[in-house]
Amino acid sequence: MSETLRPDICVIGGGSGGLTVAAAAASFGVEVVLIEKGKMGGDCLNYGCVPSKAIIAAGKHAHAIEEAPDFGVSAGEVKVDFRKVHSHIHSVIGAIAPNDSVERFTALGVRVIQDSAKFTDRDTVVAGDIEIKARRFVVATGSSAFVPPIHGIETVDYLTNETLFDRNRKTRHLIVIGGGPIGMEMAQAHRRLGSDVTVVEGLKALGKDDPELAAIVLEKLRGEGIEILEGTTVTEVAKRGKTGVRVTVKSEAGEEVAIDGTDILVATGRKANVEGLGLEEAGIDFDRSGIKVGANLRSSNRKVFAIGDVAGGLQFTHVAGYHAGLVIQQILFRLPAKENRDIIPWVTFTDPELAHVGLNEEAARKRSGQIHVLRWPYAENDRAQAERKTDGLIKMITDKKGRILGVSIAGAGAGEMINMWALAVANKMKLSDVRGFVPAYPTMGEIGKRAAITYYAPMTRKPFVRKLLTFLRRFG
Ligand SMILES: Cc1cc2nc3c(=O)[nH]c(=O)nc-3n(C[C@H](O)[C@H](O)[C@H](O)COP(=O)(O)OP(=O)(O)OC[C@H]3O[C@@H](n4cnc5c(N)ncnc54)[C@H](O)[C@@H]3O)c2cc1C
Repeated sequence: MSETLRPDICVIGGGSGGLTVAAAAASFGVEVVLIEKGKMGGDCLNYGCVPSKAIIAAGKHAHAIEEAPDFGVSAGEVKVDFRKVHSHIHSVIGAIAPNDSVERFTALGVRVIQDSAKFTDRDTVVAGDIEIKARRFVVATGSSAFVPPIHGIETVDYLTNETLFDRNRKTRHLIVIGGGPIGMEMAQAHRRLGSDVTVVEGLKALGKDDPELAAIVLEKLRGEGIEILEGTTVTEVAKRGKTGVRVTVKSEAGEEVAIDGTDILVATGRKANVEGLGLEEAGIDFDRSGIKVGANLRSSNRKVFAIGDVAGGLQFTHVAGYHAGLVIQQILFRLPAKENRDIIPWVTFTDPELAHVGLNEEAARKRSGQIHVLRWPYAENDRAQAERKTDGLIKMITDKKGRILGVSIAGAGAGEMINMWALAVANKMKLSDVRGFVPAYPTMGEIGKRAAITYYAPMTRKPFVRKLLTFLRRFG
């Protein structure tokens, strides 16, 4: 070894979680070593959230041109230059990259090592020819696309999130394997940019969300011309001619059909990056879903925490950031901290968007027994009418005393709106708190308040309340 370092904290992985820990620790003057084997910024910046939202934005512009005549505006035929779409995606990544760069972190006082890290024993990590013996280790190595063992998959150049955004030509017919959030977001973006798109999903598309709300999104996607096959499994993949692919699928009824396309995107979930980390040598328990941690994110080796995607829970950038805060609280301030998954919102950035926080109807019934389910449709909102964004619904779940347990929204701007409800759920707010707040008119934010006050509607039908209201109307 050329060097032995003895920092307070050694972070493995320079993505959303690892960078947050390193930046926070350095800002408190703590000695930190950060090891990253690939691109700084990890999946989110380079192969995930950022490029996916950039291509979705390009698709939205194309779609806006198509919808413009409904507003009395004509912009002519949509033309997509895929090389320029590619430049757009990469210039967005380039604009954000300096925040996550080696230069910035070095300037913050972090020692950045650009190499692959591996535990050699319970107290030591090796990266290249440097040995690190830290007081605490934080493993934030993320996840990668899980590629299922489909017959013939290795014979085709299938795409994953790591290669999809490198393409600078239009895909003629994209076959997306997997109807989860990543698959559906990319299906719609590509459809709007002019590709034929078929999605093949073994179970239900967007199956982790409330089926009532997912149905609104799926109907819109189908209406845009995306073929979505649910309850259908891919049995074989093969090359077709020089540039084509053939995907053979089997329906629940056992019927086999061949779909001919030009490209395949595998979006069948994620696998935690645990391989080659020397976890056994360090006495860190793990399984296929990731490193096993308690609610305090500590692994079976007390010196080692695991955060973000590799910790096997919800896999989102804001979760990695949340985890980072919990770990910093424990390492730097020696304060206890526990993850609370019930307060984590998530958003699928299709159009309409699909957002959720807290308990869904089924989980709330199991946990709280008697619940109230409140709904309000976008079509009853003036702003949604003006924008012609009337496909949507908010659904709110409360306990019998009106405490907000969970909120799901399908519709325009759902991803922005869910933040207010995430605050409500995190602070155990009641509908009475919402009753007293005044949303600006005309905004789609009013939809949530309208749903909340439906809770009080049955009360106004009680005789004494009706008498009181009549009295107030007359003399109040
Ligand atoms: C297409 C797509 C779209 C997404 N969109 C969203 C979204 O809109 N919103 C959202 O919240 N989330 C989204 N996500 C999820 C989000 O990207 C992840 O949850 C987030 O990046 C997890 O952060 P992390 O720190 O755990 O891992 P990462 O950001 O992946 O960072 C892990 C880092 O560890 C490095 N590493 C791995 N092993 C080693 C090793 N042995 N030594 C050194 N370094 C190592 C890797 O190179 C990587 O840079 C999306 C993901 C994908 C794939």
